[in-house]
Amino acid sequence: MGSIALRNVSKVFGAHTVIPAIDLDISDGEFVVFVGPSGCGKSTLLRLIAGLEDVSGGKILIDGKDATELAPAKRRLSMVFQSYALYPHMSVRSNIAFPLKMAGEDQASIDRKVADAARVLNLTDYLDRKPRQLSGGQRQRVAIGRAIVRQPVAFLFDEPLSNLDAALRVNMRLEISQLHQQLKTTMVYVTHDQVEAMTMADKIVVLNKGNVEQVGTPLELYRRPDNLFVAGFIGSPK
Ligand code: ADP
Ligand code: MG
Repeated sequence: MGSIALRNVSKVFGAHTVIPAIDLDISDGEFVVFVGPSGCGKSTLLRLIAGLEDVSGGKILIDGKDATELAPAKRRLSMVFQSYALYPHMSVRSNIAFPLKMAGEDQASIDRKVADAARVLNLTDYLDRKPRQLSGGQRQRVAIGRAIVRQPVAFLFDEPLSNLDAALRVNMRLEISQLHQQLKTTMVYVTHDQVEAMTMADKIVVLNKGNVEQVGTPLELYRRPDNLFVAGFIGSPK
């Protein structure tokens, strides 16, 4: 569970075509990174997959089912944003438990899932703290914890590390990669940072003005960039 397919997907805002037409296949368990300059449509594409925006044309299939007809909650996709979007007045425990409470799960099941997520993310000792009593990295982990407890078929990350300082970014990059190895859940990760893309991705999708310039493994893109845009972005000479 967790494959995502885009078929001729387009997005238009008023007179502005942000995504002309994209075809893309993401396999179950894959770590796919969308890279490209600011404004090229990375967030829009992720929001379309999440169901936070409606496609203007085409289809998105999740595990082969037409997602455009599913409400965002039914897509079983968890989105992690760059702003942590934690509730400041709630404890770490309540923040992580929040989506389960909303879904009306029983308390025993909530406690178990929160404990599991906290263990995976090294947050067990911080469950009773408030967000302001945490470091930036810990806050980001709480946001990921809130995504994990929903047991999604895929995680969608929109530049989750861009608010962190350089050293912490390197740490969190490793942590998210380890999390992927542990959970083996599909992850779609948006960044404008080439290093993040090169070190984390199974597959990189290079976007430019809403179009896919090239799809490939980090090594393929580095060794055989299709054009100067990709070469320039990935950082190897053509
Ligand atoms: P990225 O995440 O790659 O920086 P975005 O997906 O945020 O790019 O934006 C791509 C383009 O779509 C930009 O030109 C942006 O101004 C435009 N855009 C995004 N969301 C909206 C919206 N809700 N209404 C109008 N234009 C939008
Ligand atoms: Mg963006």
